[in-house]
Amino acid sequence: MQFNGIELVDGDIIKKENGKLIVPNNPIIGCIEGDGIGVDITPAMKLVVDKSVEKAYLGKKKISWYPLFAGENAFKKFNTYLPEDTVNAIKHIRVAIKGPLTTPVGGGFRSINVMLRQVLDLYACIRPVRYYNGIPSPVRHPEKMNVVIFRENTEDVYAGIEWKADSKEANQIIEYFKNNFNVDIREKSALGIKPVSQFGSERLIKMAIEYAIENNRKSVTLMHKGNIQKFTEGAFKQWGYELAKKEFSKYTIAEDEIGQQSVENKVIINDRIADNMFQQILTRTDEYDIIATTNLNGDYFSDACAAQSGGLGMAPGANIGENEAVFEATHGTAPKYASLDKANPSSLILSAKMMLDHLNWQEAATMLEQGLERTIADKTTTYDLARQMEGAKELSCSKFAEAIVNNL
Ligand code: NAD
Repeated sequence: MQFNGIELVDGDIIKKENGKLIVPNNPIIGCIEGDGIGVDITPAMKLVVDKSVEKAYLGKKKISWYPLFAGENAFKKFNTYLPEDTVNAIKHIRVAIKGPLTTPVGGGFRSINVMLRQVLDLYACIRPVRYYNGIPSPVRHPEKMNVVIFRENTEDVYAGIEWKADSKEANQIIEYFKNNFNVDIREKSALGIKPVSQFGSERLIKMAIEYAIENNRKSVTLMHKGNIQKFTEGAFKQWGYELAKKEFSKYTIAEDEIGQQSVENKVIINDRIADNMFQQILTRTDEYDIIATTNLNGDYFSDACAAQSGGLGMAPGANIGENEAVFEATHGTAPKYASLDKANPSSLILSAKMMLDHLNWQEAATMLEQGLERTIADKTTTYDLARQMEGAKELSCSKFAEAIVNNL
């Protein structure tokens, strides 16, 4: 079998049976190198992952990396930024990791990343944010941050339903609203639609609650703007509480029921309005744990949390659907630093740690994370962190990866 003309030869396919991943010892994992600094950070990530797996399992397990085309390399070869075969390959092999991709300016679609999430229905964007010792941070107690953000990935204003100001469609809709709903929208306005469904909200919140239960976390916070957007954001919150009660009553308790029944190791379900949440994460950082939220809130909030604990260069991410998972660096292509062997590969390396967790290869995941932690604690880092750390030694991207390997 082949995709984009490349034969799937080495390794075995990861299967899924009864909702559980069946991972062979030599799984095929798709790899999108990425544009810009992708050429630097992706080989660094692969080196660290391969060595962690080799060391954790004494050579009994090994990843077979399968190259996938997307972004500029796909455009050069196939005249499209996201070939259908790349999507089909991910559907077939189930797990992939990607470097950052340039968003084509003025192209036919808004973002390859958003498109990939939508065509594969990768409905949950998961972003753990925690502090690693020694990382420069703008706050006094960055170590208090340890949250996992579950952001809905397919709906909300990201659904891409919007019309230009004064376009035929926008004007028609304005007219329709006026005639049928007695709703006045200012003439020649641009319009966007924010769909939020019960189905989309529940499956995301369910994943967050299951994660909290499985990982002994203390709370799940439903972050929303329901005081203003009552039927979209407000409904997201309501559906979340109802779902917790209906499906997880044995393991969860709503915050306003504390006192009426015993908490006893139960996961607390609470909610916070988005603007308050931005304050709370700064002032009461350690009170928050798992956060489930709609798409746009999640986008803003995960970058804000990352900034508080050391910046985007350190923040990993995963996009998970029913059948496929794509792990990705959360920063962009930083074109200024492309091919200079300078960029920080930590975000992609920590995304690979999430991937190893997803494969249930915890030993390798833990080894990799500790290797990275030690390397940073030794004050050996790439330029972006070194310039903010007193007494740090600056390493190139590839040398930083080698230093992590030496610290495994
Ligand atoms: P960016 O994240 O690429 O870069 C902003 C700045 O952050 C860089 O100039 C650099 O100083 C720093 N930076 C980012 N990653 C770094 C790393 N690993 N190591 C060291 N420094 C790093 O954001 P941008 O400039 O707004 O976007 C550039 C391109 O990337 C755009 O085309 C954008 O659409 C795309 N993008 C892609 C993704 C993705 O693929 N997930 C995410 C964001 C932006």
